[in-house]
Amino acid sequence: MPQGKPTIYSSKQARAPSMVVWVFLSNTVILSLTALFIGLTIHQRDNIQQEEQLDALLMDRATALQNAAPALSAPSKYYNSPVYFHQGELDEAQQTAHWGVNCSPAAGSTDQTIVTFNCHNQEQVRAISVVHKPNEDAPNQQVVLWVVDQNNDYWSGLNTEDVMGSLVLILLLSAVSTQIFNLLFVAPLSKITDKAQQLLHSNSVTKLPFSFTLEVTRLSKLFEELAKTQQQREHHFRRTAFKDSLTGADNRAFLMLTLNERTAKAKEPLSLLTWSIGNFEGISDVMGYDVAEQTLIRMTRRAKRLFKNNLVIARLESSVFCALLPKTELDLILSKHSTSRLFQTLIRVEGYQIDIQCHAGLVHYPEHGQCPNTLVRRVELARQLACSTRQPLLAYDDKLERRSANRLEMIGQLRSAIASDEFSLYFQPKLNVRTHQITQAEVLLRWNHPRFGLVSPGAFIELAEQTGFIKEITRMVLIKAYKIVELCAHQNIRLSLNLSALDLEDDELLKFIEALNLNQPEASKHLMLEITESAAMRDPEQALTVLNALSFMGFQIAIDDFGTGYSSLAYLKRFPVTELKIDRSLVQGADRDTDSQIILESTIEMGHVMGLLVTTEGIETESEYELVKKLGCDYIQGFWLARPMPYDEFRLKYLVGNHTDLPKGADTQIQPGISSAHT
Ligand code: C2E
Ligand code: CA
Ligand code: CA
Repeated sequence: MPQGKPTIYSSKQARAPSMVVWVFLSNTVILSLTALFIGLTIHQRDNIQQEEQLDALLMDRATALQNAAPALSAPSKYYNSPVYFHQGELDEAQQTAHWGVNCSPAAGSTDQTIVTFNCHNQEQVRAISVVHKPNEDAPNQQVVLWVVDQNNDYWSGLNTEDVMGSLVLILLLSAVSTQIFNLLFVAPLSKITDKAQQLLHSNSVTKLPFSFTLEVTRLSKLFEELAKTQQQREHHFRRTAFKDSLTGADNRAFLMLTLNERTAKAKEPLSLLTWSIGNFEGISDVMGYDVAEQTLIRMTRRAKRLFKNNLVIARLESSVFCALLPKTELDLILSKHSTSRLFQTLIRVEGYQIDIQCHAGLVHYPEHGQCPNTLVRRVELARQLACSTRQPLLAYDDKLERRSANRLEMIGQLRSAIASDEFSLYFQPKLNVRTHQITQAEVLLRWNHPRFGLVSPGAFIELAEQTGFIKEITRMVLIKAYKIVELCAHQNIRLSLNLSALDLEDDELLKFIEALNLNQPEASKHLMLEITESAAMRDPEQALTVLNALSFMGFQIAIDDFGTGYSSLAYLKRFPVTELKIDRSLVQGADRDTDSQIILESTIEMGHVMGLLVTTEGIETESEYELVKKLGCDYIQGFWLARPMPYDEFRLKYLVGNHTDLPKGADTQIQPGISSAHT
């Protein structure tokens, strides 16, 4: 949709005068011409009548003169009438003072009884020659009788006052008739034009005005029909062009359109949420496309239910959804529901009970950006961070953009960081709940960045995976771990290393480890390798081959982050796994919420049924510890026990002296929250 206000006139057309002006002008001209014609016709008729009267008078006087008229003294008016007489011939009469100036006989009139003379001062002289005999004895006398007919000219009927008066009247009549025309045609037409403009801008048209004329009424009706058809077409277009065909949700184009429209208008505060289903790939891999598609459809319906008064509910890509709604509306929803209630749910599809864990990003307009592209980019940043840190909801703040710029900077520095040995290993102990001893520790990587300080793997492991550096990182971690494995083994502590999904596809890795084992044949027996549930399920057959080979070399294998993805139990049973590490998200809140507790309990039970040892990760409080202990968990790991620590600290605490018998309530020396840089 074009921005700004389109107009249905071009600038040239807009300069053309209105129809009203033309009608007024043409009315004035027509009325003037008509008035002129009528005026002149009447004047002409009056002239003729006057001529006839004069002729009658002349004839009357002539007859009277012929019969017995008084003696005439010449030349004078005949009594009080306008008739002049002259005793003598016609050409003599013309010489008299009462005759008009410069007269000449009118064509054809000399044959008539009354001869007409046209004079130069718009006068006419009408004359008759009569033979007069004053008495019986007197000789015949020749007498000429004549009248002077003034204002005889065709145009002479026009005088200034009449013309001005008529003009005023004509203008008035013109104005009135133009107004009537305006009411009947122009006003309804401009209303229709306004409606057309309205249709162009808002795609909606209110009722058209009533008109007295058939033509305008028909035009109105036609326009209404056109508007309706246009709306239906637009509606259809919107439905197909702006809808996601699978879920029936809106699509990205519709989101952008709505954002453009809304941000161009008033600054009504808006909230934009995007969320993705964290374990979607697993659902699709393990349960198939149909279940995955049904899941998306159900999630769309759920979103529409939860975010009722939305402006947009869209599917942006695969399992990424978004909702645009007034900020007040979102505030209301967040005050009613917890974020975990909004973004975590169990849904039933085709007999499967699916645990959906979503991660959402949130931005507010205009607080976090004025333009739609910025808002979308920022909300996606927030969502991606929520995904990688496994939070249900993360609101955007400026640090995120800096973080993303930093990430870009870090990509370029990864290779040199390995070469200049900027990485170090941190260690987080695990407590055997039954024996109350530290018998394992997880190795967690840290990057001592020259500019950003100590960087946690959350900030670079994904980058390393995307750029392929992860292979080198894994080798580096293995080399470092092999250096201390014997000391740990001596203290009866098994080190646990993290492998990435890409490591399972790295054909050279096994050879690399074999080479390490040549020098330290016993090392692998004291090491455990952790592979996340989702990594194992990416290509389960390949994973099975590699894990079998590693197990054959003596490594213990653990499934990490269990509960965040979807594992096929059939495969899990075939994997040479000895331990299940239950993700923190299943532990969080389980000491307060019965449903969560049931899920945690059944997961621990399931691990045991499969013959596995079970670790619960992310134990932060004593009550969480008491709960998992009660539920029969074998190991715990978490801040409550100890935060990840550098090697020197770990060595002092656990690798020298008699450290394994911890006081009741775990490690009193290492309390939660000692150093955030270590996490
Ligand atoms: P992970 O394997 O699940 O490791 C446990 C993570 O949880 C660690 O984060 C740890 O610091 C954190 N953690 C431990 N206890 C608690 C707790 O009580 N509460 C909370 N909120 N968090 C706790 P870290 O060190 O930032 O590592 C993040 C992830 O990076 C690891 O998750 C692992 O997947 C990956 N990672 C770490 N080191 C390596 C490595 O050497 N190679 C590979 N491929 N991945 C690694
Ligand atoms: Ca791990
Ligand atoms: Ca984990």
